[in-house]
Formats: sequence, C-alpha cells, structure tokens
Amino acid sequence: MAKAPIQVVWFKRDLRIHDHTPLSNAAAAGPVLPVFAIEPEQWQAPDSALRHWQFAADSLADLSQALGTLGLPLCLWQGSMLDLLAALKAHYGEIALHSHEETGNAWSFARDLDVKSWCQQHETPWHEARQHGVVRGLKSRVADLNAWEKQWETLMTAPTATAPQNAQAAQGWQAFHHIDVKHLHGLTLGFDTTPCPERQQGGRSEGRAVWRSFVNQRGRRYRGSLSKPLLAWEFGSRLSPHLAWGTLSMREVVQSLRRQRKKHAEDTAWTRSMRAFASRLHWHCHFIQKLESEPSIEHQTLHPALRGLRERGQTGVPLVDACMRSLIATGWINFRMRAMLISHATFGLGLHWYEPALHLARLFTDFEPGIHYPQVQMQAGATGTNALWVYNPIKQAEDNDPSGEFVARWVPELTTLPLEWRAKPWALPEILRQRFGFQPGVNYPIPNDFECEARHWKKMLYELRRTPDAREASQAIVDKLARQRKPPAQRAKKAKPAHRQQLSLFVEGQ
Ligand SMILES: Cc1cc2nc3c(=O)[nH]c(=O)nc-3n(C[C@H](O)[C@H](O)[C@H](O)COP(=O)(O)OP(=O)(O)OC[C@H]3O[C@@H](n4cnc5c(N)ncnc54)[C@H](O)[C@@H]3O)c2cc1C
Repeated sequence: MAKAPIQVVWFKRDLRIHDHTPLSNAAAAGPVLPVFAIEPEQWQAPDSALRHWQFAADSLADLSQALGTLGLPLCLWQGSMLDLLAALKAHYGEIALHSHEETGNAWSFARDLDVKSWCQQHETPWHEARQHGVVRGLKSRVADLNAWEKQWETLMTAPTATAPQNAQAAQGWQAFHHIDVKHLHGLTLGFDTTPCPERQQGGRSEGRAVWRSFVNQRGRRYRGSLSKPLLAWEFGSRLSPHLAWGTLSMREVVQSLRRQRKKHAEDTAWTRSMRAFASRLHWHCHFIQKLESEPSIEHQTLHPALRGLRERGQTGVPLVDACMRSLIATGWINFRMRAMLISHATFGLGLHWYEPALHLARLFTDFEPGIHYPQVQMQAGATGTNALWVYNPIKQAEDNDPSGEFVARWVPELTTLPLEWRAKPWALPEILRQRFGFQPGVNYPIPNDFECEARHWKKMLYELRRTPDAREASQAIVDKLARQRKPPAQRAKKAKPAHRQQLSLFVEGQ
C-alpha cells in the first residue's frame, strides 16, 4: 500500500490547537508535521517589533506544550517557508500543506503567492481554511453586504473544530527543527527592540484567563469605559493580541459570548456592554476585509486627492505624551486614544499618516495589519469618504481623563501643577509659573500650535474633497469598501444594528 503523504500544518497567526481546522484535517489525512517558520524577512519589516515577537514566543511555547498533549511536536524552522517546503519535499517525497488563510501585510501576501506557485509547480496540495469572517479575494463588499453578514454568521455559528486525539506524528521532523522553544525569547531577528515592561503575556492559557475574567466580571463596565484610557485598560476585553495571534479563535469567542450573555440577560448594564463588545467582533472582520479587498491601504493614501500632503513636526501635549509613554511601556492603548494619536500626528502635527502608522504598529502588541492600516487612514481623514473627526487632545483630556490620573501617572513632571493647568501647561500664567516652580520649555516642552495646524489641515481636506474629481473618487471608494446607504424608502425606522455603526463613518456626509 502507498504511504500517505506527510501532512504539514503551517502555523501562522493561529497559535492554538483548539478550533484549528487545518490541524484537524491534517490529522485525519495522515502523519502530521506541525511547523512554524521564523522567517527573517517578516521580522525585519518596518512594522515588526520585539514586543510582537515576545508575544508570539510566549504563544509558541504554549502551543508546543499543547501539541505535546496530542503526541505531536512543534517543528521550529529558522528560514523562509519556501526553503522549508523544498527541504521537506526532498526528504519526504510527497507532502500536503494545511494552513489558515491570512490577510497580513504586503510581505506576507507576496510570500503566500510564492508558496502558492511553489505548491503548483511541485504538485503539492495546499488546503487553506478560514478563521475570520473575511472573504478571500472579495473585490467589493458593498455589492452584497447582507450576503457578507450572512457568511460571517454562518462561519461563527459552525461547530468549532476539536483537537485531534489520535494524531500520528511524522518521523524525522528533528532534521528541520532549528531552535528549542525555550530559547525563542533570546532570538534577535533585526526588529525594533524598544522594551515593553508591561506587555500583555501571550499564549492560549493566558488568553483564556483574560477572556474568563472579562466575560464573568470585568465586562459589566465595558461600555462606559471604552473611551477612557485608565478604565479601558481594566474593563476593555484586552483580547486584541490574542485575536491577532490566534491563541483564541474568533469563532470560539463569539460562541462563548453568546452562551454567557444568556446568564446576564436580566442585567441591563451587562446586556448593553456585551452588545457593544459583540459589535467590535464584527468590526474586526469588517476592517480586515478592507485590507483584503484593497491591499494598497497599507502604503497608499486611499483617496487620490489627499496623497502627498503632510510634513513632519514635534509634540509637547500632555495627553498625547501620556498615551505614547503608556503605549511604549505596555504595548496597548484604548481605541479612542489610538484615534486621537493618529488625529494629532496627522492634523495637529501635519505628518503624513504612513510614518505614524509604522511607528504605532511597532508599539501595538496586538498589531493586526487588516485593522491597523484602514483605521489609521480613516482617523487621518485619508479615506476621503467618512466625516472628518479631528480629536482635540485638550478636550479629550477633559472628557476622558477628568481626574488627570492617567496623565499624572505617565507625565509625572506635571504633577506639581493644579489639575486645570495639566492639560495645557504652556499656557500657565507667569505668576503661577513662579508659584509652582514650573517653566514651560524647561520643565516640559512647549508644543507647536496644534490647534491652528489642525484647523489648517481640516480646511484643506474639506476643500480638496469638494472638487468634482474628488467626489467621484470618494464615490468609487464608498462603492468598493463602505456600507452603502439604502435608498430612503428602504431605510427602516429602527436603530442601526450595533455592529454596523462604525461602518457608517465611511459613508460620505455622516
Ligand atoms: C489608529 C488605530 C489603529 C488600530 N490598530 C489596531 C491593531 O493593530 N490591532 C487591533 O487588534 N486593533 C487595532 N485598533 C482597534 C482597537 O483600538 C483595538 O482593537 C482595541 O483597542 C483593543 O483592545 P480590546 O481587545 O480591549 O478591545 P475590545 O473593545 O474589547 O474589542 C474586542 C475586539 O474587537 C476588535 N476591535 C475592537 N475595536 C475595533 C475597531 N475599532 N476596529 C476593528 N476591530 C476592533 C479587536 O479584535 C478587539 O480585541 C486600532 C484602532 C485605531 C484607531
């Protein structure tokens, strides 16, 4: 009888054994070889950083242990995936490849195309399974948004894949195993090495613990805490790096959420919070779909009229500095502050969105290209379609850090000042400067006139967007990437479903 081909399971951003369709399918087909390729080019990309690697390394250690319980190894190869495939093919003869689909950055897309053509040339089947509600190669979601929602629902309600209990391990895997999992943290791969002392831990066990504490306890205060950097730290789900690295599957989170919601059905605060949270799980896939449908979002300003506009600058704004210092130390900041940082960088400082996007990508442990680049362009007003939201950091401090506790924690040089002056210390009157021993420009930098700068860019963008050509281009973007407004007659009176609210930002004029 002919030997079954070796079933190579390629782990990517799906570092778990539970609800892992490629692993389950591979185990049913023959001897399994689970691999993770540490590809130098991936880690040298300008949006890669040590904190991403550390999170991945935690998760790989956890994955290796979990695979061990199934009697399977985790083969850690250092080098390109193409070289690994060639080496496996030479050694084993017949192989089959199993993985999840990935919507990553331009580099991972090009790598996947190379892998696809290698597989075709070498008659190696490559079975890709879906793990998010993203539809591969879809050029426009708008044509049939209902169908898109329906397929999301179908995928999320399908039974989760169970970890295979009778898997047979492929022999001879050690020949391709380059590094012991214990030494992963010591690898230097050429990425940005800014330390992140309060980084979230990776690994499925940690992801499950974070989820349990959210859905059983912390989640009740979710809705009221979202915009506030201190409260969101505690009452946000904090699942983002786990979803980005796939230590938890989106489907298991959706299904677990629906089970838990029933428990709290009588409690309005829980119900509202869980509804708001559930909507974010939709946004996750909606945003990644944008990058899947329009990969140039990663590099090129979406709207043609708005390309090549901005220049460089400096900051000295307390809430902005507090956010940046907190982000550097912890690898995480809440949504509103992320939006404000991009808004300040682009409108307040006049920077082009791309450099700040790379800088923030390196600082977010949860960096997910499909969410990150579309969000950055949207907050920078570069989509040319959604309403311009320019966040003033002084107002944001008043609204979302009214006690000044967050700024005090991260910008301690301002704590000698009374609260009312901490959001704009440069404006401290002369008499108070002496009283508090505080000299703007000496004790803390004086910022540029960011309010004036923001007015300038906002006006410029409005004018650019009003030209007939720009309007036409906006419509083309809406047609391709945004939710289309239904004609008035079809618009029901009832409230928009929560999971669509953010998308409406992409609709012109709203
Ligand atoms: C400029 C900018 C860049 C961003 N870059 C990233 C990124 O690289 N990776 C990332 O995961 N999120 C990104 N976000 C979205 C959002 O800020 C984070 O997902 C959220 O703060 C993570 O915290 P949490 O897990 O507690 O989120 P929760 O509020 O608990 O939400 C649960 C999950 O839903 C998804 N989600 C939440 N908000 C959004 C949103 N607005 N759009 C799409 N998906 C969402 C995330 O997967 C998140 O983990 C970005 C937002 C902005 C404004």
